[in-house]
Amino acid sequence: MADSPSALSATTIRALRGAKPAADPWAEPPWNLERERRLAGGTRAALTVFLTGAECPYTCVFCDLWQHTLDEATPPGALPEQLRRVLERQTSPPEPDACLKLYNASNFFEPRAVPEIDDEALARLAEPFDRVVVECHPKLVGERCRHFAERLAGRQDGRLEVAMGFESVHPRALPRLGKGATRGDLERAAGRLERFGVGLRAFVLVGAPYVPEPERMPSVLDTVRFALELGARHVSLIPVRGGNGALEVLAGRGEWRAPTVGEIEEALDRSLELAGAAAVVAADPWDLERLATCPECAGTRRERIERIGLTGRTEPRIECARCGEGEPVEQR
Ligand code: SF4
Ligand SMILES: [Zn+2]
Repeated sequence: MADSPSALSATTIRALRGAKPAADPWAEPPWNLERERRLAGGTRAALTVFLTGAECPYTCVFCDLWQHTLDEATPPGALPEQLRRVLERQTSPPEPDACLKLYNASNFFEPRAVPEIDDEALARLAEPFDRVVVECHPKLVGERCRHFAERLAGRQDGRLEVAMGFESVHPRALPRLGKGATRGDLERAAGRLERFGVGLRAFVLVGAPYVPEPERMPSVLDTVRFALELGARHVSLIPVRGGNGALEVLAGRGEWRAPTVGEIEEALDRSLELAGAAAVVAADPWDLERLATCPECAGTRRERIERIGLTGRTEPRIECARCGEGEPVEQR
């Protein structure tokens, strides 16, 4: 796609990027150990490993994951080695219901990013975990996903969950995001996952570019509703953060602005209502301070967002005498 008055081509998006830091596919990758709400109640340990591998072939205008990728194909054996190193770092064995998230800043079922020859070793290393989550573009969910689910299912059925970027299904945004995915692609991928007995997790953007201002919140909720209809049992709300060059160009054209913390709170509260008992909903609190404009309440808002992600229970909004952002966006 060439540049148009509103959409940026993949070439332009890539040209706007800054330098990519060097990445070593044989080094221990970043990881974190957190708690995550379980749909059945309570929380479980979740170890997220940010694997270093080949860059994603897609060029989403909002994405900054390319910063942590290789220019070349992932060498065979590197990902199991990375995972082994992270697992060796753990001071105790995983809890019985622990979850392992293998996030590779690309698509798990893309052979350049994850050499297929490594699937067996990765599945074996994941053995102590009750649940395994990988991320993948809807067009790349196919037979390899089914085989990987079968490898994992040696221990029990339904251990695999695929996280797919639903991003924004707003009709103006979706074709311009650079994702190369349609609602139909998402529907077909969700259908395949259901047939394979694989769980679906949805990433939904808060503050997607190209969404007209009055439609920002309704479009987040439409996207969440769509993901729930397709069987998502976990919805992660991802605030869009600037810094990749392309979003700054769109901001200059009035096609994007960063979400406010109030918008993230409202998206979380209303998505929770939509999901009810059908799905876990959480907002990604990473780097939230960058979006906060009020030093008085930034910390308490972040704590509330994290708490709701773990309990699934709504809480009164935070009223701040300084910024007043405790009011829902639509009532301001
Ligand atoms: S498909 Fe995912 S990893 Fe690839 S560019 Fe889009 S958001 Fe980034
Ligand atoms: Zn405030």
